[in-house]
Amino acid sequence: MGHKVTLLPGDGIGPEVTAAMRMCVEATGVKIDWDVQEVGEKSMAKHGKPLTDEVLESIRRNKTAIKGPITTPIGKGFRSVNVQLRQSLDLYACVRPCLYYEGTKTPIKNVNLVIFRENTEDLYAGIEFEKGTAECTELREKINSMSAKKIREDSAISIKPISVTASKRIVRAAFEYAVKNGRKKITAVHKANIMKFSDGLFLKSAQEVAQEYAGRVEFNDCIVDNMCMQLVQYTHMYDMLVLPNLYGDIVSDLCAGLIGGLGIASGANYGDSIALFEPVHGSAPKYAGQNKVNPTATILSSVLMLEHLGESDAAKRLEGAVRLVLREGKEVTYDLKSNREDASAFGTKEMAQAICRKL
Ligand code: NAD
Repeated sequence: MGHKVTLLPGDGIGPEVTAAMRMCVEATGVKIDWDVQEVGEKSMAKHGKPLTDEVLESIRRNKTAIKGPITTPIGKGFRSVNVQLRQSLDLYACVRPCLYYEGTKTPIKNVNLVIFRENTEDLYAGIEFEKGTAECTELREKINSMSAKKIREDSAISIKPISVTASKRIVRAAFEYAVKNGRKKITAVHKANIMKFSDGLFLKSAQEVAQEYAGRVEFNDCIVDNMCMQLVQYTHMYDMLVLPNLYGDIVSDLCAGLIGGLGIASGANYGDSIALFEPVHGSAPKYAGQNKVNPTATILSSVLMLEHLGESDAAKRLEGAVRLVLREGKEVTYDLKSNREDASAFGTKEMAQAICRKL
């Protein structure tokens, strides 16, 4: 019997990149019973909501899931399904390895970083108050009565909760990963000079956890704006980063840029018993249905999934096949060509087939 895995193809380019990933995973010979579930726009049209209980139940039952990107309407419509999945399943650790692969177009060579992003709170908690609503007015008046700083009448309000519980468990997860994987140094990223209470608490929690690992894993911290500059200028001074949710999201994309773009960047979301794997990129709607985009990020996410399932040999073979195809640079999608208009660029499916041939 195969491993049971929930597969969420998602929106936009999601169905294409997940089909490419599925082809590669199946070519490794590892047996997977895919439990395919609809989320996002298709689910909205069919069930009136973008994420049903049935999908959550499938993931809880199978404990392992892999997904394509899901579209989130901007400034209106339903809330992000990605955020809902992470919060409902308490997938608190978002792990994004940023690894240089020869053949990719990168500003810097040999990048090898791992990002740990807190996934459940911060400004992503979804606690928001719309301008002009009774709740927003009540909250604004309450805050204005308690604070020397006043909130303007025509404001919307988003709340940024940061707890000791969530901060300590993401930092501990990062340290445990470092110990297990021979990583040397963790940098906590924050803006505690300005947000003294929320980011200050994240930093203090990180420092306390770091003490438990003193002598085994080095620890320091960095303010997020400085971190962005450091990552571009002195990338090799950093090994692992641990960040609250919002900075983690932004810095992940910066680091995706350091390894050749969103087409390459893979990710995983871990809770205590459930793991959900996904590329860092979004649903790129303008490319949907064109068999054009790079499937590598989703295929590398499945490498993380195979590792998680205990299929280390298949994971190594699949990553090795991706590495070969990237290094040769011929059978790759447009974004990996030096000229993005290059007519010899492979399609999504054809690049996945090339990877399968190298297994
Ligand atoms: P995006 O990642 O979808 O696309 C930005 C650009 O990156 C694209 O136009 C394309 O040029 C490039 N790109 C992305 N994936 C690529 C790939 N596989 N190969 C080659 N190039 C690739 O970001 P966006 O345009 O900001 O967001 C589009 C939608 O995706 C939004 O609705 C957003 O909410 C959603 N989104 C979802 C997730 C997720 O499901 N985890 C993550 C980010 C964004």
